[in-house]
Amino acid sequence: MATYTPMIEQYLRVKAEAQDAFLFFRLGDFYEMFFDDAILAAKELEITLTGRDGGASEKIPMCGVPYHSADSYIQRLIEKGYKVAICEQLEDPALAKGVVRREIVRVVTPGTIMEGKTVSDRVNNYIVCVTERQRMMALSACDLSTGELYATSSPSSKEWLRDEIGLYDPAEVIGDEELIGYIKEQAAPLGKPVVYTVWTKGKEETGRTQFGEAEWIRLEPERRDNIALLVGYLGETQKRSLGQLTKISSYEPEHFMILDPFTRRNLELVETVRERSKKGSLLWLLDRTETSMGSRLLRRWIDKPLLQRSRIEERLEAVDHLHGAFILREDLKGALQDIYDLERLVGRVAFGNANGRDMIALKTSLRQVPAIKKLCDESASLTLKRISASMDECADLADMIETAIHDDPPVSVRDGGIIKTGYHAKLDELREAGVNGKRWIAELEAAERQATGIKSLKIGYNKVFGYYIEVTRANLAALPEGRYERKQTLANAERYVTPELKEKEALILEAEEKMVDLEYALFNEIRERIAADIPRLQKLAEQIAEIDVLRSLAAVASENGFAKPVLTDGYDIVVEQGRHPVVESVMNDSAFISNGTTLRKDEASILLITGPNMAGKSTYMRQVALISILAQIGSFVPAAKAEIPMVDRIFTRIGAADDLIGGQSTFMVEMADIQIMTDKATPRSLIIIDELGRGTSTGEGMAIAQAVIEYVHNNIGCKALVSTHFHELAHLERSLPSLRNYCMAVQESGDKVHFLRKLIPGAADTSYGIYCARLAGLPDEIIERAYDLLPEQEQTGAASNSLKTSVSSAAKAHMDSSTQARSETHEAEPVSSIKQEHQVKEEVVQLSIF
Ligand code: ADP
Repeated sequence: MATYTPMIEQYLRVKAEAQDAFLFFRLGDFYEMFFDDAILAAKELEITLTGRDGGASEKIPMCGVPYHSADSYIQRLIEKGYKVAICEQLEDPALAKGVVRREIVRVVTPGTIMEGKTVSDRVNNYIVCVTERQRMMALSACDLSTGELYATSSPSSKEWLRDEIGLYDPAEVIGDEELIGYIKEQAAPLGKPVVYTVWTKGKEETGRTQFGEAEWIRLEPERRDNIALLVGYLGETQKRSLGQLTKISSYEPEHFMILDPFTRRNLELVETVRERSKKGSLLWLLDRTETSMGSRLLRRWIDKPLLQRSRIEERLEAVDHLHGAFILREDLKGALQDIYDLERLVGRVAFGNANGRDMIALKTSLRQVPAIKKLCDESASLTLKRISASMDECADLADMIETAIHDDPPVSVRDGGIIKTGYHAKLDELREAGVNGKRWIAELEAAERQATGIKSLKIGYNKVFGYYIEVTRANLAALPEGRYERKQTLANAERYVTPELKEKEALILEAEEKMVDLEYALFNEIRERIAADIPRLQKLAEQIAEIDVLRSLAAVASENGFAKPVLTDGYDIVVEQGRHPVVESVMNDSAFISNGTTLRKDEASILLITGPNMAGKSTYMRQVALISILAQIGSFVPAAKAEIPMVDRIFTRIGAADDLIGGQSTFMVEMADIQIMTDKATPRSLIIIDELGRGTSTGEGMAIAQAVIEYVHNNIGCKALVSTHFHELAHLERSLPSLRNYCMAVQESGDKVHFLRKLIPGAADTSYGIYCARLAGLPDEIIERAYDLLPEQEQTGAASNSLKTSVSSAAKAHMDSSTQARSETHEAEPVSSIKQEHQVKEEVVQLSIF
């Protein structure tokens, strides 16, 4: 065993407490890293690896970063998914006997970082804790930077836990070994890099003390257990009081619509599938919030659509009112614009790193509150009135900041210049002394000029030499001998001091030091007074966020022509002229074709949708899901009219993007999803399956598709939209009373296919695959041969028509009645041509369907 110097021995002792983190070991003005930490950090941070004698025969690998720029290095390591333990010197090295005492003062982890660009304004940064106790799964999610803490539990399965974690998109997950192992395996393909920590230490008592008895006993035992663990971890890493954690938002999973991670991804609720960017997602479309708190809350609303009609209606009431009140919306917007991120400001106050500017930001924000309160109060919305009635303006806090803190304070809280004159008598006295001292200096300058006759003589100050008298080289001769002591020589001047200047300097600097210390103490006092009122500020922040979100939803509804949905406790979904809100908004020529949806119990609960690729099937199916979600978060919906029941869960099986992840075969992924669906769906659920049965052989695929559809129809009885390229399945309409065939209308003329994007009753023709191959310019020989190989009845349908549409005979009747309803230019002309053509082709199309 190597023997090391006492300091390295100390390093090793400290390092043993932070095995899974980089140890930033403070040595004077640097944080140093040693051994393996140094080797890895040098690589990750691209800094020079050196060596240090540490007592052993070989040099110890070492690298370091200056303490004043350590933050950016810490950030980089956190972003790469590491933890950083910061070990400080706890005594003055000059006074220490032996090795300076050092301890870890904080462990920065991805889920607990409070500052810097890792913490994005409009997104939460969560740490999630998972536990299982007596078959109860529990989860808590905490954003230390905002003070939000959610807790829930369920007797359900691990999949539930996985889905719930997905909502929080955490940076870090902690829990016992078994659960962490499971989550790691399950969630790895889903999101951003997550740090997993096995953590099992936590005491009930710590939780009780943190939140208070009343809050604590309201919690279910398994949630208490869980939070105790979380608080244990936060205590261990932060090593300071967590004043921002005042409240536990405990919720029941069954109060919200369940959206598993695949569905959330497929529907692109908060980010797109491909770029994983907010742009192009539903959140992006809906987010017209002015505050960061509002933006984060909106995201939470989208993640957790409500199931209780009364709660949704409360939101809708406000959105409805704001929708019709443009001026109110604009006035609110104006006031909200000047509100800073109250939650994060409060987080910094609690954490102890708020500075003077944060205080001014807090004051500026609070000054907007009376206007917002008044606007809500005077509005005709009951919901807004209710919010404003319980709104505490916190004017006392704003007043306190106003009297105490300079309007334009410096960034640092340790250099003075923060506290206003008139706030504290002793401080004013010291300031006065400082001012007097400076006046004395100015007078001395004048007197010296006069005495020496040197007009350019001046008195200056610098940190190293203090006050000095500066005389240019040209004037040196005019200076009398003896009285001036030379201090510093510059290129063209000399600097001197006199005994009386030194004496005065001591007084001035002492006053200044005292002043700075006193300012710092006063600032801390104010910070603590605000810290004591954190719950008030947090509640206000929540209310502001809510108003902001409601206003944002109203603005979007108004800009995009959304309509207020009618919510029901029934079963049926009835949408007139529904649109996909995001696809519509990115189409520049506003050419989106609306489509209605009617899903009725025992009548038409399953729509089997056929139609060629690119016809608009999956857009349509997604649109129905999004309309339900929008309605259940309390938003207006992209439709002329909509009757929406409370959907308890949406399952989707869409698209190919998710198949690429995790290396599983398309078919296996599909089957796993369908298994969960059959297990979990209730009659109140909505199922969306795109291209059911692909990924395996035709015969088997079709057999499974039929079996799944029958199961959904007969055993689950929920609403479902299923698209398939197995047009043969259209016969199910005859055996399943609640299934209806639909297809996307397509018109061909000559060698052109025209997608009408109109959903019409009936099943599609099948020959588009080969037709598309021909369009793509494949040799005639291949095309001919392909037609030859088609099963006989399809061949008849395909080959005998040079001009076809995917419209079945059943569709025709519908088209007659719906022609006038469809949107103008795009459809009017092609539809009539289809109609004529189909009079002739009825037989052929019939053949190809059944
Ligand atoms: P499918 O699922 O049938 O292959 P998609 O739903 O992916 O087809 O639609 C293909 C493209 O057609 C979409 O990217 C969109 O741009 C356009 N589209 C779909 N539905 C409509 C519509 N109702 N109105 C206008 N364009 C649409």
